[in-house]
Amino acid sequence: MSDQRPGLSGVPPHELTEWLAAQDEPAWRARQIADALWTGGGVTDAAAIVTLPSALRESLGAFARLDTVGDTETQVTDGGLTEKALHRLDDGVLIESVLMHYPATRGSRERHTLCLSSQAGCAVGCPFCATGELGFGRDLETAEILDQARHAARRLAAEDKRLTNIVFMGMGEPLLNLDRVLAAVEALNDPRRFGLGARHITVSTSGVVPGIRRLTALGPQFTLAVSLHAARDALRDVLVPLNRRWPVAEVVGAARDHAAATGRRISYEVTMIGGVNDTPEDADALAELLRGDHAHVNLIPMNPVAHTPWTASPMPVIESIAATLRAAGIETTIRRNRGQEVGAACGQLAAQRAGEPPAPAVARRRERLVMASAAALRGERSDEPVPAGVGE
Ligand code: SF4
Repeated sequence: MSDQRPGLSGVPPHELTEWLAAQDEPAWRARQIADALWTGGGVTDAAAIVTLPSALRESLGAFARLDTVGDTETQVTDGGLTEKALHRLDDGVLIESVLMHYPATRGSRERHTLCLSSQAGCAVGCPFCATGELGFGRDLETAEILDQARHAARRLAAEDKRLTNIVFMGMGEPLLNLDRVLAAVEALNDPRRFGLGARHITVSTSGVVPGIRRLTALGPQFTLAVSLHAARDALRDVLVPLNRRWPVAEVVGAARDHAAATGRRISYEVTMIGGVNDTPEDADALAELLRGDHAHVNLIPMNPVAHTPWTASPMPVIESIAATLRAAGIETTIRRNRGQEVGAACGQLAAQRAGEPPAPAVARRRERLVMASAAALRGERSDEPVPAGVGE
């Protein structure tokens, strides 16, 4: 049976104060606990909070888990610039986070960006994504999200560095676990807890329109990124199956409203898949869709993912799509992939540990994707259902 104690990083400050009151402890003890929990990524054991009396350390350890991602294996690649962490959660579920180091350049300071997970697996099922292939496992607890950041912060603190950016682009669709993601963002942004500026936090979505609308109502909290991948519905139905529920125009409309209400530029991500979404028609459709918007497009060569029939678009093709977008006045960058040697995209290490699916199933999947993308390129909409768990 899994540990029933809450993860301490996910316990809201007012609940911690209430718990202290119930222990006949003064409220200011909460400050000592927060300092120990958040400074430099914080401690992982209540016994290490030496500012507390030993009886309180003991009762705190009995009340809550100080670390929910303690069982972690890290792999380093890209000459030390990318660190992939595979976290085994209390119930045995595997999730991943990726820490990427960007050395200083003449125009920018050194950055350390963490890509973290919001769910174990994902219900959306994008076929170019290793996490999508795993299917949906469960939503992560707030503490399980935050402890990925604390884990990375500790690794950096050991080298006298700190986390500068966090992106919710790991495993899962953050807006399908929105309450916990928002609680995690609040803690990340809180100067008395993780203390990262809102502009340094990016939440990504594959297009959950009600979630985008809810974020808009909250006001500017962080940067919103939309994983677009295709501007034409027929193709997006295949590449991002929740498009069958919320089509391109609705997603971009909600993102546009978000930009107008918050003054924040929307970041659109497009994974470039050779021969699938990199045709001149796709480039033109994307340029038309976003022309005049307060938007930025990131073109990302597809990571090699097992069991898909696809590979990344060649770089000259990506460059020509970038040129089309720029000619339409849309700011565009081409993003380099990270961590390919250790299983590139988020979800790959977890997928490898889950074991190989049977060969006939893989062959059927590949064949189905080839047929679906060919039909999409002919402009035919998918008649496949909306993925379960994505709906309302
Ligand atoms: S790309 Fe994102 S939304 Fe799509 S399956 Fe992967 S994790 Fe889910």
